[in-house]
Amino acid sequence: MTEEGLVENYHSATSAQRRFADPIVFWDETLRDGEQTPGVHFSPEEKLAVAERLSDAGISVINAGIPVVSTEEAEAVRRLASAGLKAHVLAAGRTVPGDVDAVIRSGAKYIAVFVAASQVHLRYKLKMTQDEVLAASVAAVRQAKSAGLHVAFVTEDTVRAPFDFVERLYKAVLEEKADRVVVSDTVGIMTPLTFRWYLEEFRRRVKPRDWSVHCHNDFGLAVANTLTALEAGVTSPHVCVNGLGERAGNAALEEVVLALETLYGVRTGIRTEALYGISRLVEELSGVPIAANKALVGYNSFSHEAGIHTHGILANTLTYEPLQPELLGRHRQMILGKHTGKAALVEKLKERGAVASDAVLADLLRRIKEGTEAQGKEELLRFLTEYRAHFERPGVPDAEFWRMAKEAGVPGVTP
Ligand code: MN
Repeated sequence: MTEEGLVENYHSATSAQRRFADPIVFWDETLRDGEQTPGVHFSPEEKLAVAERLSDAGISVINAGIPVVSTEEAEAVRRLASAGLKAHVLAAGRTVPGDVDAVIRSGAKYIAVFVAASQVHLRYKLKMTQDEVLAASVAAVRQAKSAGLHVAFVTEDTVRAPFDFVERLYKAVLEEKADRVVVSDTVGIMTPLTFRWYLEEFRRRVKPRDWSVHCHNDFGLAVANTLTALEAGVTSPHVCVNGLGERAGNAALEEVVLALETLYGVRTGIRTEALYGISRLVEELSGVPIAANKALVGYNSFSHEAGIHTHGILANTLTYEPLQPELLGRHRQMILGKHTGKAALVEKLKERGAVASDAVLADLLRRIKEGTEAQGKEELLRFLTEYRAHFERPGVPDAEFWRMAKEAGVPGVTP
């Protein structure tokens, strides 16, 4: 990022507080948690297409899905497991024998067995006691290990569970030789400082060798919390392309990777120039548009319009860009509009070898500004209205649901 002497880099002032694992094992959740985004569904072919790209980019572990969800899901996991990917294909299941069995039959060599840990989940969702959760977890890990699988043990809502129970539970599965343990901030309530404290405490009590974090973005902190976890020595971050995932999503793959590479100079082993292409593919297949101002992969992330900024960028990109767009496989854009200045115009005219006098440039600038200001917003509003209608009600439309309910024979239902 730095050219000698041009910008200061104060990250070195805090380097003693960071202990990154080497290597950092990227565990992608796009095809599991990402697919659980409301309205999102990937076919087996689509899952394979994404998995191939992720594997080629250097992702180590790919969660393909939960085989007991449906026959199509089981088929997708089988397809990925037999595709000869460089990445390890993982499938997930609850701590029940049938789920673990479905993963074993899928051919996936990695499994994530999951159960909830917090009291609210135990009492209202699982209707299980802590002892019952512990017994089911130990049995599931034992079942998966005896089938020769690499086993990750996951609890949902770890960070809202009683620590004594978390300690007892994780120690029990580690005694069963679980290979990796996962701490989840399922509803995204951690902050970097509290999460650092939590993870230090977890390390002290549980003594994990290989551990992951699963961070949600309900408060927009998923990437920050994931970075905090990596700084604390967590070995394997859960990430999703474009930050896809339930509700506000998970930690974005591209943001975690580029923060490590660019801000801290950590070599992640990820081919960063593949990330933009993967981002656009997942945008298309998921139908979840990338926000224009999304970090790194948003449409505006490397666009400049304001005269002062454009002038700076043209002189040296370090003025207003912390990293080069080519690093992600994309290009910067100079936008001509209301805020355009002379330097951008001179540069634009060079595309055709044209040079203009100051007077002509001033006239051209005036035309561009007036043209922008005269542009109506009707087309944009039409587009936004359709967009909102789609996202305010994804999935099966209401009328369609009631028709299905009648067809299925629900008594007393008329469409
Ligand atoms: Mn999740």
